[in-house]
Amino acid sequence: MSFDTLGLMPELLRAVRDNGYETPTPVQAQAIPLVLAGRDLLAGAQTGTGKTAAFVLPILQMLAPQASTSTSPARHAMRCLILTPTRELAMQIEESVRTYGRYLPIRSATVFGGVNINPQVKALRAGIEILVATPGRLLDHHQQGNLNFSQIQFLVLDEADRMLDMGFIRDIKKILALLPAKRQNLLFSATFSDDMRQLISGLLNNPASVDVAARNAPAELVEHLVHPVDRERKRALLSHIIRSQKLDQVLVFCRTKHGANRLSEQLETDGIASSAIHGNKSQPQRIKALADFKEGKITVLVATDIAARGLDIDQLPHVVNYELPHVAEDYVHRIGRTGRAGSEGMALSLVCVDETKLLKDIERLLQHPLPSKVITGFAPDPAIKAEPIITGRGGGGGGRSGSPRPGGSSRFASRRPTSPAPRSGASARGK
Ligand code: AMP
Repeated sequence: MSFDTLGLMPELLRAVRDNGYETPTPVQAQAIPLVLAGRDLLAGAQTGTGKTAAFVLPILQMLAPQASTSTSPARHAMRCLILTPTRELAMQIEESVRTYGRYLPIRSATVFGGVNINPQVKALRAGIEILVATPGRLLDHHQQGNLNFSQIQFLVLDEADRMLDMGFIRDIKKILALLPAKRQNLLFSATFSDDMRQLISGLLNNPASVDVAARNAPAELVEHLVHPVDRERKRALLSHIIRSQKLDQVLVFCRTKHGANRLSEQLETDGIASSAIHGNKSQPQRIKALADFKEGKITVLVATDIAARGLDIDQLPHVVNYELPHVAEDYVHRIGRTGRAGSEGMALSLVCVDETKLLKDIERLLQHPLPSKVITGFAPDPAIKAEPIITGRGGGGGGRSGSPRPGGSSRFASRRPTSPAPRSGASARGK
């Protein structure tokens, strides 16, 4: 298939060619004609699938007839709003808008928190068609009267699951209430939790679905194995497994940043080289941890779900769920890190009595029970009763730690005051 068959205008085809793209990616091939036909879209696609061009190209095309070459702000109206969770993503998307729109007189801007607001105000006043924004800073601009939503025709929620994880649901709802009811809505997400389904049902109008299975589909070659264990003995069991099975590259998932840090430190104490990777680590720290892991300088990389999403690591032999995720889809996401491209992988889950329901949810999603094996010396004590998984701070060795996924607000509650302190989309960057 070539781009010529998708119904795109010559200016866009030229820009695509300039970029060296020869064939559309699956999400582009499916989504572009649907968006051009005016449909709302529900797309299951992650970064790396070419999803940005899948929405930017058709939106540019639909905005082109109204675009003006005039520099007068009065000749420009904000017609498309693209919401994204982080400033990096906002910048990348706007860069794509500029790249693909280079032969069209369509103007764009980006607004995100954590930086001076004034240059953004200036850019908005100059007149734009497309705005790429993180939710918090967008609302700040709205409160300052810098935005006119009355002409919005397109709304894109990109990485919608990450926005929910980062506690943006209330901001998103506020933003939706500001937009004209008649508009075309496109939602991109890698995972679909119950919260997401709720958001979707209130947002999308008879949406067309596009699903590029990509990384989110359970890999065929993964062997799943559950090891039942008491919550307080998980760490000892993990060290035992790594030593006895001589594992040398293991990605371990925890639910919280605190839990990931603690586990990494404890593994080090056990003599197993390890690093934690999560949103409280600086970018250089994350890069170093990843490089050390890839080069084999450390055996274990302990990650939170969100931190792991951006990681460019494929085909790992072993993934360990030290704590089961709150949302079953995240299990699929986690184990998608192993068993790729024909190589076999192993997904181990250390499951304590508190996590019985989470395990059931995963088995329901996968539509089959996961095999279970008690490791000698680590049989769970039947006298230990389930305890609720504590929300918010935690990080106990077992199932008690973790913040709940719904809304994810507790994760950032302390950093995202409701008012009146300045909000920052960027400050709530990925975990
Ligand atoms: P995205 O998933 O939108 O972040 O895109 C991932 C990467 O794929 C970006 O570096 C794009 O420039 C690139 N890309 C997007 N579409 C194509 C295509 N049709 N052919 C080759 N590369 C592409």
